[in-house]
Amino acid sequence: TTVFVSGATGFIALHIVNDLLKAGYTVIGSGRSQEKNDGLLKKFNNNPKLSMEIVEDIAAPNAFDEVFKKHGKEIKIVLHTASPFHFETTNFEKDLLTPAVNGTKSILEAIKKYAADTVEKVIVTSSTAALVTPTDMNKGDLVITEESWNKDTWDSCQANAVAAYCGSKKFAEKTAWEFLKENKSSVKFTLSTINPGFVFGPQMFADSLKHGINTSSGIVSELIHSKVGGEFYNYCGPFIDVRDVSKAHLVAIEKPECTGQRLVLSEGLFCCQEIVDILNEEFPQLKGKIATGEPATGPSFLEKNSCKFDNSKTKKLLGFQFYNLKDCIVDTAAQMSEVQNEA
Ligand code: NDP
Repeated sequence: TTVFVSGATGFIALHIVNDLLKAGYTVIGSGRSQEKNDGLLKKFNNNPKLSMEIVEDIAAPNAFDEVFKKHGKEIKIVLHTASPFHFETTNFEKDLLTPAVNGTKSILEAIKKYAADTVEKVIVTSSTAALVTPTDMNKGDLVITEESWNKDTWDSCQANAVAAYCGSKKFAEKTAWEFLKENKSSVKFTLSTINPGFVFGPQMFADSLKHGINTSSGIVSELIHSKVGGEFYNYCGPFIDVRDVSKAHLVAIEKPECTGQRLVLSEGLFCCQEIVDILNEEFPQLKGKIATGEPATGPSFLEKNSCKFDNSKTKKLLGFQFYNLKDCIVDTAAQMSEVQNEA
């Protein structure tokens, strides 16, 4: 079975590619340049079941046409993970919203044009950002479920970069569900979405840490590099280990019950105070060198300052245990310290 993975060079997607290959799938990935694609192939030891295509910018109209013109008849499953995830912009439409929405639209249009009879399943990597309005995230008594939607509009989500990223995930996911509704008779695929919270966990390949760092892992890296007595922003929300995010994509492919579902990935709430506590407790080489904040106050902070997530439906559908925060952070930080020691 051949699976297409968009944005294959990303933090989450590299784990997905690895898990797919291990499970025996043939994988076609997309990356933004020949250089990035060659680098990826090399990391997977030029596995003959893996090939790469260039999709330079998912914001461009018909960005996926060439790939599906060429491979449409082979591809049975499409995992759409590519989407901009950063806050380094003031041009929110150009850098966040348009690529997220156009990318989703163009991959589905390309399937319709060139692979309507072959693609059976599409899994879109959405986010908990599509479920909750950013200004509601600190409401302690709000409960978010698989049915929830971020209420921001195209205009209101452009208040700042975080809101715009969250909006980009909402509008991209909406685009996918609406496309399927409008094209039910002309495509055969079913749709599921994976909606992860903040994703932590080790990089598939440690050397990814040497060339800049993906946005969510950057939170842990900043805390590792915090200063004694220093302050840190107490980010909080649902978290999930990247290894579980990858596994969930494979389960979504394989379990028919996941068809048509939004799978919300959260093992629980976290806040940076809890991460700092874990780092100080588990890494003697960091203790006394990094911030401590107010140890053990994480749970009470979260009770008051974070909305709650009830993803019991997803947990039942997926049927596997997620990594807990301690194991997730220990594995993340151990890899980061190792890479730093080598430098
Ligand atoms: P990464 O930034 O590592 O991966 C994003 C991927 O999308 C990269 O391969 C990137 O390519 C590609 N991409 C971004 N913009 C474009 C563009 N305009 N044209 C072509 N390719 C593009 O982040 P993650 O792995 O964390 O994110 C993967 C997916 O998971 C995204 O959809 C993200 O929204 C979602 N997600 C992530 C969470 C997290 O905490 N990490 C939480 C919830 C959802 P390049 O690097 O070459 O620019």
